[in-house]
Amino acid sequence: MSVKGKSTQPLGSSTRLLHAGVPPLRDGTGPVNVPVVRTSTVRFADTAAYADVHHRRAAGERVAGYGRHGLDTHQALEDAVTELEGGHRAFLAPSGLAAISLTLLALLAPGDHALVADNVYAPVRRVDDGLLKRIGVTLEYFSPGHDDLAALIRPNTRLVYLESPSSLLFEVIDLPALAAVAAARGITVVADNTWSGGWFYKPLALGANVVVQAATKYIAGHSDLMQGIVVVDSPALAAKLTLTYEALGLTIGADDAYLSLRGLRTLPVRLAQHQRHATLVAKALQRHPQVARVFYPALPEDPGHALWQRDFSGSSGLVSFEFRDADVSVANAFVDALQHFSIGASWGGYESLALIAPPERLAAYRSWTSTQPVVRLHIGLEDPQDLIADVEQALAKAAALQAARAPTLVAA
Ligand SMILES: *Cc1c(COP(=O)(O)O)cnc(C)c1O
Repeated sequence: MSVKGKSTQPLGSSTRLLHAGVPPLRDGTGPVNVPVVRTSTVRFADTAAYADVHHRRAAGERVAGYGRHGLDTHQALEDAVTELEGGHRAFLAPSGLAAISLTLLALLAPGDHALVADNVYAPVRRVDDGLLKRIGVTLEYFSPGHDDLAALIRPNTRLVYLESPSSLLFEVIDLPALAAVAAARGITVVADNTWSGGWFYKPLALGANVVVQAATKYIAGHSDLMQGIVVVDSPALAAKLTLTYEALGLTIGADDAYLSLRGLRTLPVRLAQHQRHATLVAKALQRHPQVARVFYPALPEDPGHALWQRDFSGSSGLVSFEFRDADVSVANAFVDALQHFSIGASWGGYESLALIAPPERLAAYRSWTSTQPVVRLHIGLEDPQDLIADVEQALAKAAALQAARAPTLVAA
């Protein structure tokens, strides 16, 4: 759609994203952005209008009968993320993890079995241990690219859950191949698309049925809110999600919906810049003698590069690297010496971050066999030469520590 409702020619993806959820003009005029509509009660002109709205809601139509259902701001964000992911309908959750829990609760019932990639966002295991086991749902973890998915499918397997690339080593999964195996058996495929912000990767077009995302990250883009989205590809899945969404009483604040929508308008330009800077930092790391391996799918040396080139249109701001002949104290010294990177979880904001990849999380990946420490960097929008200089001086400090202790390391 065009902002004036007149365009007929096919539009590019940026134009479509920027036009999605723009408020219609009223009496020939109107604002650029949708207003922040905060309310609890929704008012009705008369009892017939009240009955009409509740009847239409019951039939599955997206109309608000109450504040929890979300009014203009919520609907505009839903429309924009539905457009972004190329889906049928979106649901807004108070965090990325809530979006994941909502999806698993909506699509799995007692006695069901689901296959989950072993390198997914680690708190998925908390949903498993704290919630799903208790209600008789079994999650089984598989190693994408190593295990044969078809051989793991049981008669009660209902869902395959994956994240590509993964959050610490950015392993790229052959989604079309896995989705074909699942589709042949009527199994729903759920993909966490947080890494790409929905911009560089379109899982629904590659065979997934449901996308979840932490809008907290690239969609919001400014490290100032928590939010999750779920986008489904069919009315049948929308109906299932709606039942659980309403049963849990989920909603988000209109202010947060507005902030996410605002973030979405600059998602393409921010991601292009994250990609440019992250590529420069990744290449600088590759040249460094203290670095054994750099994990960034856009690098030709990355194991996922061929799949990434086939299925993705870009690479975001996350870069991990493995130290050479170091231990965790060397990695700690590196992170502590950084001047322009904050230490912290999450990512997707404009700022650079660094974190030691938790060894127990890496150990849960069957594909990970090294004992070397791994540091994950989120490359922000600062000047890349400043970030590279910072990484190099911090590596030099870590090297000095390593050299001072070299005799003990050799003896051990
Ligand atoms: C951060 C993250 C989540 C969870 O999102 P929150 O909004 O922090 O709850 C889910 N998946 C991935 C890949 C993430 O990075």
